[in-house]
Amino acid sequence: MLTVGVDLGGANIQTLVLEGDETLGSARMKTPTQGDRTLVLDVVAAALHAALGEADHELDEVAAVGIGTPGVVIDGTVGGASNIPDWYDRFGLADLARDKLGVPVRLANDGTAAAVGEHHSGAGRGTDHLLAITVGTGVGAGLILNGQPYEGGVGGAGEFGHTVVVQDGAVCPCGRRGCVEAYAGRRAMAFAAERAVAAGRSTVLFDIQEELGQQRPTSAVFKAALDRGDELAADLIDVAISALGVGIASAVNLLDVDAVVVGGGLSDRMGDAFFIRLEAAIRPNLFLQPPRVRLERAQLGDYAGALGAALLARDAAPR
Ligand SMILES: [Zn+2]
Repeated sequence: MLTVGVDLGGANIQTLVLEGDETLGSARMKTPTQGDRTLVLDVVAAALHAALGEADHELDEVAAVGIGTPGVVIDGTVGGASNIPDWYDRFGLADLARDKLGVPVRLANDGTAAAVGEHHSGAGRGTDHLLAITVGTGVGAGLILNGQPYEGGVGGAGEFGHTVVVQDGAVCPCGRRGCVEAYAGRRAMAFAAERAVAAGRSTVLFDIQEELGQQRPTSAVFKAALDRGDELAADLIDVAISALGVGIASAVNLLDVDAVVVGGGLSDRMGDAFFIRLEAAIRPNLFLQPPRVRLERAQLGDYAGALGAALLARDAAPR
């Protein structure tokens, strides 16, 4: 029996074909940045068929498709996915995707799917309780508790990026204030850099952005600015790591997870330096002493979400 996993990112749509625990084929395509919601599903269908082609299998062998999507997933619907065109208002993605793909669909939040992937064959292997965080444009996360994905009462669990670390703090892209993402999400960091420049601070961030041909300050831009001794970039990264550290420690105090896996953007670019500083930001805020939680670098990158989505579909599909 085959299952297909789809990770729907703001930049790329990653698909893979799974048989048992083995990946047989994969494909990646650019996520459309304009158009209506069905256009995105056309690209999902194309990426699914490309992955099946690489795996040398047919659609009628696929028992189910798992889709990891941004936004909050409730009963086959998704809402609040601001990085995908025309996906902000809640709609019935599972039914729409099933009609388009011709296969039963299991939806999950992309953070949950990535946590399932890292738990199965990445940095979270062997843990019973895991928090997996992806620091990118936003800050996504997923939970494994007692060996199982934990999606909460209706599917809203795992929103680590919107846990509040500063009361009445900076405005978050979600519209609320003081969330982890308001300090550590790349989109929020870019806004903060723009505000600082408007207030008279100097920085090479936007020069580097232009040199690298980017539309906005990406994590590569922040890393290059840091390497050139840019004070604003260093300040924003300090604030981001501090917010992540306080948020992670609070989550660990609540849940006593075995491991916290962090991947994406700045953490990948900065490597060990990022993790040494993050560990230092977490440690003083941990209640349980001596601390037992492990901080790990994510191992699967963009594949984590697609693998997790395929595993969720496999485990939900009739055998
Ligand atoms: Zn928020």
